[in-house]
Amino acid sequence: MGAKVSVDESVRVVIVGGGFAGIAAASQLKSFGIPFLLVDMRDAFHHNVAALRASVESGFARKTFISYKETFQDNFKQGKVVGINLQTQLVTLESNEELPFSHLIIATGSNGPFPGKFNKVIPKDHAIQLYEDLVKEIQKAKHVVVVGGGSTGVEMAAEVKTDYPEKEVTLIHSKVALADVQLQPSVRKTVKEILLRKGVRLILAQKVTNLNQVTPNVAQENIELQLEKNSEVVTCDLVLCCTGFNISSSSYSSAFGDKMAEDGSLKVNEYLQVEGHANVYAVGDCAFINEPKMAYNAGIHARVAATNVRNSLIGKSLKTYIPGAVSMLLSMGRNDGVGQFNGFYLGSFFMIMYKSGDIFVSKSWKDMGQVMPR
Ligand SMILES: Cc1cc2nc3c(=O)[nH]c(=O)nc-3n(C[C@H](O)[C@H](O)[C@H](O)COP(=O)(O)OP(=O)(O)OC[C@H]3O[C@@H](n4cnc5c(N)ncnc54)[C@H](O)[C@@H]3O)c2cc1C
Repeated sequence: MGAKVSVDESVRVVIVGGGFAGIAAASQLKSFGIPFLLVDMRDAFHHNVAALRASVESGFARKTFISYKETFQDNFKQGKVVGINLQTQLVTLESNEELPFSHLIIATGSNGPFPGKFNKVIPKDHAIQLYEDLVKEIQKAKHVVVVGGGSTGVEMAAEVKTDYPEKEVTLIHSKVALADVQLQPSVRKTVKEILLRKGVRLILAQKVTNLNQVTPNVAQENIELQLEKNSEVVTCDLVLCCTGFNISSSSYSSAFGDKMAEDGSLKVNEYLQVEGHANVYAVGDCAFINEPKMAYNAGIHARVAATNVRNSLIGKSLKTYIPGAVSMLLSMGRNDGVGQFNGFYLGSFFMIMYKSGDIFVSKSWKDMGQVMPR
């Protein structure tokens, strides 16, 4: 991964957030022999890319939570970061503990509704149990409605229909085209075709107006969803929410208020340094970069930032991050999928490999197999 460097004891990199970006930065710094502390509010890395499969298949969730301590031992600290003091170079935890840093890598990512994201701060085994509980709720329901037809929503609808073809599955989306706007029209069209082929009912260009009165993820008889147009009501017995992802900015908003973009992410330069701060980097979903928010990109950012920490310590020039072309893959159940990689359309053959058996095993021909050293 990289040659070890020798540094004096004033060097300590604090990485805030142990998602795809944070663990990649930690692994890279470890390989350089640079002292670091990885801080996350939870006790385990959540492989949320596989969270939707874990919602329909019992026994899968346990593969998606990986204990930080097992991998990073004393280089990991569990705690919620509530403040950053740039003058004193201290990170403050909710417990009031202060952690000194010489360099900071901010990787707090994004949050959103369960099951796509896991938001609670509870022990790993309880988190796994919540996914197992959701599998049972989905099994109980006869008619499942997925609200939100972005990339998460289309994957969710396809996962439910693949494992439970006898269930009625409806996807309600506020726009006409499904999946992410960065994707080619042909990819978005294929997503629609796959869903229709699987028997998912699509309600497009419609918003649910009473979502805040519905308890998601719990099977109940006769849940009524009101639609904005035509006063139509959809009756179902389970609602899964795939809307509303936000950048997790609470840890840095007071320190970097003036460096935040409208969505709460941090403005960075081409070296991924937060504007005006040579020893602070932002990577992953919380970095303001014109490209899709993806685990794959988060890992690349992290390796660039860790390399730049090393290069700055040994007097080498810094590495530039060039935003990649869109490389997005959508798994539409275990036998179907579609995506695009640097402008190329990818069909279902590729997707059968992707996410099929174990998480990330053959996600791409590049370096996506190794998510976390175990
Ligand atoms: C359902 C779903 C499927 C997806 N599928 C794919 C896919 O197939 N391929 C792909 O490339 N991308 C996929 N993505 C996108 C991908 O998950 C994100 O881009 C990726 O998680 C970003 O990684 P990150 O490390 O920046 O942030 P996150 O994964 O959000 O991790 C942030 C971490 O920071 C921690 N944290 C936040 N605030 C604090 C704080 N104040 N103190 C301490 N810790 C904190 C959190 O606990 C978390 O562990 C998918 C997303 C979803 C929701």
